[in-house]
Amino acid sequence: MHFTVISPGMYTYGAMLIAGILRDAGYKVTLHKDLRAVPNSTVFLSLYSTLHLLNPDIRSFVSNHIKNRGACYVGGPVSAYPEIVLGELDCTAVVLGEGEDTVLSLAHEGITDRTTGIAFRERGTITKRTATPPASIEHPLPFIPPDISSQSIRGASAYIETHRGCSGACTFCQVPRFFGHSIRSREIPAIIEEVKAFKKAGAQRLSVSGGTGSLYKTRSGEVNTTAFVELLEALAGVMGRQNVSSPDIRVDCINDEVLDAIRKFTIGWVFFGIESASDAVLHQMGKGVTVRQMESAIEQCRQHGLHVAGSFIVGYPTETHDDYEQSKNFIAEKALDDVFISIAEPIPSTPLATLVLRTPKDANPVFTPHEGEYRTLGFTEAEARCFDLTLQADMYKPGLHVTTDQVFDAYVKAVKQQGAEIRQVTGLLFRYQNPG
Ligand code: SF4
Repeated sequence: MHFTVISPGMYTYGAMLIAGILRDAGYKVTLHKDLRAVPNSTVFLSLYSTLHLLNPDIRSFVSNHIKNRGACYVGGPVSAYPEIVLGELDCTAVVLGEGEDTVLSLAHEGITDRTTGIAFRERGTITKRTATPPASIEHPLPFIPPDISSQSIRGASAYIETHRGCSGACTFCQVPRFFGHSIRSREIPAIIEEVKAFKKAGAQRLSVSGGTGSLYKTRSGEVNTTAFVELLEALAGVMGRQNVSSPDIRVDCINDEVLDAIRKFTIGWVFFGIESASDAVLHQMGKGVTVRQMESAIEQCRQHGLHVAGSFIVGYPTETHDDYEQSKNFIAEKALDDVFISIAEPIPSTPLATLVLRTPKDANPVFTPHEGEYRTLGFTEAEARCFDLTLQADMYKPGLHVTTDQVFDAYVKAVKQQGAEIRQVTGLLFRYQNPG
C-alpha cells in the first residue's frame, strides 16, 4: 500500500517522523511539501498553523481528494482543536495529539471500532475517541527527503527532536499543551544516528528543537547541564560547530557551562522569547520571568561572546501604550543582534485564545484602528506597533539598515498581511467558541 505524507510549505520534523514510521512498517511512502497525491490513495496531512485551515489551496486539495475517493487524515498541532479542523476541512478524520501509534493503526486497518486517538464526523456530529497514549520518545529514523539540503528554517535544514514537552506555561504557546509539561528526552546515540543520516542526505545545518533547548534531560525544572553539554558536543562532532545551532532557550534555563557549550559547539547564537519588556504583560502571558531576568540573561550571554536574538509579541489584548513603549525602549537599550516581531496570535485551545474571546473587539488592539503617528497608513493598533517596533529594531541592530521606500512599503505590506491573518484566526475562534 502507498501513503502520501504532506506538510505544506516545509518538511516539518513531525511529517518526516510519520513518514519514517510508515516506511519502517513496510509501506511505500512519499513525503511532499506541496499538495499532490495519487487519486484514491491515503494522505496524512500534517498541519502546523491555524491558517492552513483557511488556506483555499489546502481546503480544495482535501475536498478533491475525498471526492476522488481517497482518505485524508489531518494531524499535527492543529489537532488540538479537532472541532475547528472538522468544521473547516472535509477530511476523513483528525489524528489527535502525538499521532505515531494512531497513524500506524489507521494505515493497517483504517477507522474501526478499536481505533483510538481520532476525531471524525459521524451522522452529523463529531465523535472524539479516547486518546492514544503518547508514543515512545525513542522512535525510528525520520524519512529524510532527497532535497532536504534546499530547506532553510531560520538557517537550519531541519530541527532535530531531542526532547518533547516544556515546563513553561506561556499563554500563547501550544508546546506544553500538545506535548505536556514534563520533559521526555531521547538518548544521545539515537539522536546522533539520526544526525548522521541527515548529514548523509545533504542537510547543511541542524538545530536542536524542543522549544527550549537546554531543557534536554531536565527533571523538576533544573537544567541538566552535563546532558546538554554532551548533546551539543556530540552534535558538533558529526556536523562541525558551524553547522549546529541551539537557538531557543528560556532566560531562566541558562548557566555559565550551558553558555560556554553553546559558544564552543554551535554557531554561537541564542534566541530568547522576550515577548515584552513590561513585567505586567510578561505576567499576563504566563512567561514566569521578569524583565530583570531577561536583561541579566542577555548580559550573561554577551559575557560569553554569544550573539543574542529575541522575539517580541505586540498587540497582546492587555498590552497598553505604556507597556508597548517599554518594549520599544528595551530594544533601543539592549541593541540585540537580531529581533523578530509578531502580533499576538490566539492559537485555538490556548489561554490566549480564551482571553481574546473574553475581550470585546473594540478593546482588542488587533481590531482597534490606530490613531497615532501612522494613521494615514490605515493600520490597526497592533499593526502600528508591529511596524513601529520593526523600524526600531532596524535602527538599533548592529550594522546599517537603511529604510528605503521599497523597504518601508514591504514592511507595511507584511505587517498588514500579518494583521489580517490574526483577525482571520480570531474570526475562526469566535465562530467555534461553543463547539458541539
Ligand atoms: S517557554 Fe517556549 S516552549 Fe515553553 S511554553 Fe513558553 S513559549 Fe512555549
